[in-house]
Amino acid sequence: MATGRPTGSATVVATVRELLEDVRDPEIPVLTLADLGVLRDVAVEGGCVTVTITPTYSGCPAMHTMEADVRRVLAEAGYRDVVVKTRLAPAWTTDWLTPAAHAKLRSVGIAPPVSVTTDKRALLGQDVPCPRCASGRTEKVSEFGSTACKALYRCRDCLEPFDYFKCL
Ligand SMILES: [Zn+2]
Repeated sequence: MATGRPTGSATVVATVRELLEDVRDPEIPVLTLADLGVLRDVAVEGGCVTVTITPTYSGCPAMHTMEADVRRVLAEAGYRDVVVKTRLAPAWTTDWLTPAAHAKLRSVGIAPPVSVTTDKRALLGQDVPCPRCASGRTEKVSEFGSTACKALYRCRDCLEPFDYFKCL
């Protein structure tokens, strides 16, 4: 680790979390790892930084990018001794998205995932409010939007198409 940095574990953890704010979902760059609920834990022991992440959709190519970004961001800040752990259980769900993530998704015109428990109805094309005008009169156009993680919807009121961040 670089010299001259604060050495208290709590301080280092806070600094690392701050640095990781720069790690974004490559497909939805407004979202950080923390917003996504992917960042599970940051621990510092004896100068070694351990970052624990839980991948989102399995097979989502974005995850490899994010893991590489974690290493790069910390290496650039002078942290050389970094372990990125992947925790698969419990499995990530879209319920882990923070309220900040929901607001950010809406701000870029993507409907945030409705709760998993109501997803059955969402899959029928209901309960996915339009991120632009908040109308509930929306319909699913395609199961796949701009990426496999999203579905394409259209609002019947403002007639705008929009991506829906699918539940998991
Ligand atoms: Zn609308």
